[in-house]
Amino acid sequence: MAEARAPHVALLSSPGMGHLFPIAEFTKRLVLDHGFTATIITYTDFNSTSQLHSFFTTLPPSISSLSLPSVPLADLPPDTRMEARLCVLAARSAPSVKGLLLSLRSSSNLVAYVTDIFGADTFLDARELGVPTYMFFTSNYFMLSFMFHLPTLDATTSCEFRDLPEPLELPGCVPLRGVDFLDPLEHRTNAAYPWIVHMARLFRDCDGILVNSFLAMEPDAARALSEEEAGRPPVLPVGPIVRSGSGGSAGSTECVTWLDEQPHGSVLFVSFGSGGSITCEQTRELALGLESSGQRFLWVIRTPSDSEANAAFFGIETSAADPLDCLPEGFLSRTRPLGLVVRNWAPQMEVLAHGAVGGFLSHCGWNSTLESVVHGVPMIAWPLYAEQRMNAVMLVEGAKVALRPSAAGEKGLVGREEICKVVKELMEGEGGKAVRDRVLDLKKAATEAICEGGTSYGALAGVVKKWKYNIEA
Ligand code: UDP
Repeated sequence: MAEARAPHVALLSSPGMGHLFPIAEFTKRLVLDHGFTATIITYTDFNSTSQLHSFFTTLPPSISSLSLPSVPLADLPPDTRMEARLCVLAARSAPSVKGLLLSLRSSSNLVAYVTDIFGADTFLDARELGVPTYMFFTSNYFMLSFMFHLPTLDATTSCEFRDLPEPLELPGCVPLRGVDFLDPLEHRTNAAYPWIVHMARLFRDCDGILVNSFLAMEPDAARALSEEEAGRPPVLPVGPIVRSGSGGSAGSTECVTWLDEQPHGSVLFVSFGSGGSITCEQTRELALGLESSGQRFLWVIRTPSDSEANAAFFGIETSAADPLDCLPEGFLSRTRPLGLVVRNWAPQMEVLAHGAVGGFLSHCGWNSTLESVVHGVPMIAWPLYAEQRMNAVMLVEGAKVALRPSAAGEKGLVGREEICKVVKELMEGEGGKAVRDRVLDLKKAATEAICEGGTSYGALAGVVKKWKYNIEA
């Protein structure tokens, strides 16, 4: 009998580990804490790496996975931005998603459908099938507030956003200059621009939005979005949801063994997420800045890219070029006692949890940010792409858990002196002490939010109850 079956939830994850990790972790909460079974739907095209397959084997058995059939994207110009590719992929896959939901509806007790940001094009189909449809927003309140406002901004301005005369004042948020807006909105003529605006309009078409953030992190922005507004779905905090393990990642032993030998709180972890790349010139400056700071560091280095800041996004196997080739002559041997450089990937959760780590130079991807906060590690904000500049602004000026170096010149290069200065300040200076104290307060608040009785725990429990008992949103 259908009633006796466990409630089932279907979740659609966009390509990229930065999307899959939080969706999978959210699914684990539903399965382990609330008795659901689940299917995670992924895209065939970008998700065929061996790391992804091994990742799925680490999930509980009541989580199944399904891959969508491949869709042609060969007609897109070769320089199409990653965000536009994801939007086109999602839109073209929408009929297949509908087919899968139909089939899950007849084979399971399907009570809800959840997508991440790029799945918004499937909302209407899912609701037409009568399935409660939610977005798991893998970024923060600041970004969500921006997305709700974007269609109006698009309609009421005509200049490039970087030329807006005044910073944007979103309710409860720090002022945001046009130059710090979401990366794909940089040029209105870029193919990604209309896709992002289109997606922002669709945000209103779901039954609710679950934000991977928590009240203490963004109290005013959260309060503003919790107020009811006609035509806007309810917005609830469910975070911080971060990975509970390393997800079967490579390089664990080397990093952890090395960290075991370092003094408490002495190491700066340097990593640009699953997709970030910097240029060869920037790699050299970073190396020289780290070296002259005299601080210990663990640096996850990728093959530099002179064209794309997210060159590694669609998979962690990067080009055959050795990432170490760009390092200054003799750098590795000179810094060996103080620094460890690993290629491509490190077990970030284990690294951030290690007592030897005292700072994180991060690209400000939202998962990395939350992982840093839950481990009480203050940051140096080094945004590269997507909404990372917005995150950096919020982390430095709003939450006050990060310092930010200033970039100079047209190409936005951060010079070695500036890097040396900000690294020393974070690890030893007064500014570092202030952000460290603040992040330790947030670490405590984060733990409280997701424990029984906490705000995020309570919000998710309320949604789960609605799904299980088929209560109108
Ligand atoms: N990650 C990791 N090791 C690495 C790089 C990234 O484990 O060397 C994980 C990191 O812990 C986080 C995710 O990959 O969970 C990256 O997500 P984020 O949102 O920070 O950035 P994105 O990769 O989406 O830009």
